Amino acid sequence: MPRIFIDGQPFDARLDQTVMQVADANGIAIPRLCWHPQLSIAGNCRLCVVQVEGRSWVEISCNMPVSEDLRVQTDTELVRAHRKAILQFLTLNHPVDCGICDKAGECMLQDYHVAHNGDASVSHEPKVEATKFFSLSSRITLDNERCVLCTRCVRFTHEVSKSHALGVQDRGDHSVIRPAKGPGASPLEHDAYSDNIIDLCPVGALLSKDFLYRDRVWYLKATPSVCPGCERGCSIDVWHRKPEWALRSLDAKHNTSIVRVTPRDNPAVNGPWVCNKARDLARILERPRAHAPMAKGREVTLEAALAAARALIDKARRPVALISSWGSNEELHAFKTALGERFTCFVKADHVPIEGEVVSDELLIRADKNPNGHTARSLFGSAPMAFTPDTDLVLVWGEGADFAALPRGVPIVFLNAYLAPENGHADVFFPTSVMTERRGHYSNFAGVVSAFERCFSRPGGVVDAQAVFEALGVRIPNEAVTP
Ligand code: SF4
Ligand code: SF4
Repeated sequence: MPRIFIDGQPFDARLDQTVMQVADANGIAIPRLCWHPQLSIAGNCRLCVVQVEGRSWVEISCNMPVSEDLRVQTDTELVRAHRKAILQFLTLNHPVDCGICDKAGECMLQDYHVAHNGDASVSHEPKVEATKFFSLSSRITLDNERCVLCTRCVRFTHEVSKSHALGVQDRGDHSVIRPAKGPGASPLEHDAYSDNIIDLCPVGALLSKDFLYRDRVWYLKATPSVCPGCERGCSIDVWHRKPEWALRSLDAKHNTSIVRVTPRDNPAVNGPWVCNKARDLARILERPRAHAPMAKGREVTLEAALAAARALIDKARRPVALISSWGSNEELHAFKTALGERFTCFVKADHVPIEGEVVSDELLIRADKNPNGHTARSLFGSAPMAFTPDTDLVLVWGEGADFAALPRGVPIVFLNAYLAPENGHADVFFPTSVMTERRGHYSNFAGVVSAFERCFSRPGGVVDAQAVFEALGVRIPNEAVTP
């Protein structure tokens, strides 16, 4: 194990490490734009320079292998002058339109400019103009004037998502990122992981059309969560308006909406990536909601719905429950404890692949489009759904059940979060919360348990499924179940 010296301090290093990696591992900050831990080394931004002791020039640290007794300095006069010159160079043709840029507040160029340059541009020449709003796909727009040509986006499509969708066209200050052509390249539109390049871009050149000019990031809060889009259970951050910055005018719904979703780095599950389905979580969770308990299609109080469901359960001799594979570990255990003995239980798929969706691949996407089949099956088994002639009650929890296939004339208790015709056809209906309105855990296909936290309050009239199960099972007073 070689020992190297950074700024005079000795550090043990591995032979396969670079100077930048040793510095990172020991809390020594070296600026970089093009380097990323999951991508190959490009070495094109030239910001990560250091000076080897005894040499009169600077060299990039992202591609400098360690060797015994190597001695580097990260903060000499030469290094500082070089970084400053590079930042001047990078902003030579950059529009510096931070005031209207979605990346402002998260932009590496902005941060480095303050930390390592701080001076206004020394150029008196007009900036070279390039394409604004170049549409790369229905999801992503490119501002070539802000691009610093780090090629992170290009390398991602070649090395991670393998769509080979992007490349660099032309030379010098005419260079632009463009869709790649030729054998092996497919359009970014078909890249199921395309939105990762928005996060990867160190500046505001790659922008989400969905998020474009929608919010400023300093008004937003990131709540840790789990993507329910498939049984991978990728770790994500759900971004929503900070309560202290709640809007009193404009659309009040903006205060309780998912504004964007980004990956949360989790080496045990998804690394730093997610597929585009996670970005579209709002389209799943923010569908029109059910807000009132019902009995035979008529709105009733929660107490009346609980009493009606209880009477049906008490009367039934052969009740069957269709268990949600979107239920959290806590909800599934609550059902098992409260009602598991009373019902014959079958686990159902609440969601199946929809037309045009990637069913599975070798990177992250799994064919089971439900986040918690693992726990559901471990508690309730994997037997295929079957009704006997004497089935006399069906409890349906969550989406995905074919009501036409249920035994005819048998009473139905239904728990669902969304507006659906079946809600009114059930004998008793409970409108339930969605995952952003409560906290809990999912266990992914490999058994890795991940937590999701609450982002929003439950809407009025909506109840947690767990509270319904506990009320129906152990007969706690109705008042304890708060809508
Ligand atoms: S668009 Fe962004 S990620 Fe791609 S090369 Fe330009 S700066 Fe780098
Ligand atoms: S791979 Fe599955 S869990 Fe991960 S982001 Fe995509 S849909 Fe969500």
